[in-house]
Amino acid sequence: MSHRIIRILEKKLSKKTWDNWFTTLEIKEITGDKVIFKVGNLFVKDWLQSRYGKVIHRAIHEALGKDLNFEIIYESPSKEVFEANEYKGPLVKKKPLILSELNPEYTFENFVVGTENKALFEVAQEICRKPGKFNPFFIYGGVGLGKTHLLQAIAHRILELFPEKKVLYITSEQFMNDMVDSIKRGSIRDFRFQYRKKADVLLIDDVQFLIGKEGTQRELFHTFNELHDAGKQIVICSDRTPDELNGFPDRLISRFQMGMVMEILPPSRETRYEIAKRLAKRESVDLSDDVAMELASKIDGNLRRLRGAIIKLIIQSSMYKEEIDLSFARQIIGSFQTDSSRVRPLTDVDRLLKAVEKVMGVTPEEIKGTSRTKNVVKARQLFIYILKQEYGKSVQEIAQVIGKKHSTVIHSVKQIGNSVLKDNKYIKGLISEISNTVTTDFAAS
Ligand code: ADP
Ligand code: MG
Repeated sequence: MSHRIIRILEKKLSKKTWDNWFTTLEIKEITGDKVIFKVGNLFVKDWLQSRYGKVIHRAIHEALGKDLNFEIIYESPSKEVFEANEYKGPLVKKKPLILSELNPEYTFENFVVGTENKALFEVAQEICRKPGKFNPFFIYGGVGLGKTHLLQAIAHRILELFPEKKVLYITSEQFMNDMVDSIKRGSIRDFRFQYRKKADVLLIDDVQFLIGKEGTQRELFHTFNELHDAGKQIVICSDRTPDELNGFPDRLISRFQMGMVMEILPPSRETRYEIAKRLAKRESVDLSDDVAMELASKIDGNLRRLRGAIIKLIIQSSMYKEEIDLSFARQIIGSFQTDSSRVRPLTDVDRLLKAVEKVMGVTPEEIKGTSRTKNVVKARQLFIYILKQEYGKSVQEIAQVIGKKHSTVIHSVKQIGNSVLKDNKYIKGLISEISNTVTTDFAAS
């Protein structure tokens, strides 16, 4: 008879979810402070951890009447069985591999190049002329700076220049989903064939999503090697440098660094001006110079916000039948800017701050402040560490959130990371308590 926790889980989940993911989950051990599950498949482990943490917590609570942490560990069933592909997971619906779903607007023609990103742009074009020349090409930079646009522009251009080439653009999240699906279907071989043998050019977006997803990292490593050895072009995007992909195996990081690593920089005001005009043009609207200038000066480097403001301008002007002149634009941009300070659902950062406060009694102000009291320092470091490791935030973002130097952020991540490596129970306990508090008390509604 299975354990109560497992039976409760089965009751809580839909039959489909249960059949797809949970049938191989077993309880390995229940210690004083946590429940250890085991599962015979690394990818299913990734999946359960990233998608079902909350419901697992609730089941534990119901079954045992207390909030224990949990851990899922992977225990290989038997290598031969896995390799021989006889792992007969329950079936999931067959989903065709998306070869390339490209946004037709993300082209080089639509990409405005300022002096900041001129070199990057040149290299991107050179790669299209000679795929395999700089291999891999690794682009990193903050949100909304045009990484996805550039990646897809490369895909479009290569398809134009070499129509016979199989160009595969995919986010790393899709890569993982695809992989897990094919494992469940028992068709991992097809998956590998699609990626390793069929693709001539592989473009992977937002690779930082794979932080903490060891199974998928391993698969990516093999895919990478096979394609790279065959001289196939690989292009990767990330919100941080290869070095900063915490938890990625060193061998994978050094592969990423083998070719060309380049940063995409925030556009200057002049570039934002040009981009504003181009973005409006994409919606068939001509922005006047003064309106474009107003947008460029009022809205920072995140081009998604710039685009958002322009779309709003266009919609409102057609609703109110007003022309988009400077005074109208000022009105709209004004409200656009305050949007972010209005009441809104708690962000990850807010939830985490509240959880730290609840667990450690250190307030958000203290976290962001300068106090060097032992408990405050510890809380601050844990906050930083969790933001980095569990939420995948970049050093830059975290530094901004708490108003500290990059070096402080890096130091904190190292400090806590070392304690975790040394299996410091106290620190590890705090980390899971804080993380659990986020999921149970302050979960996103
Ligand atoms: P990221 O992937 O880095 O978060 P995106 O590629 O999604 O950013 O870009 C956000 C938006 O800004 C998209 O609509 C994109 O077309 C536009 N954009 C980004 N960079 C440029 C650029 N240099 N010229 C024109 N539009 C751009
Ligand atoms: Mg993107």
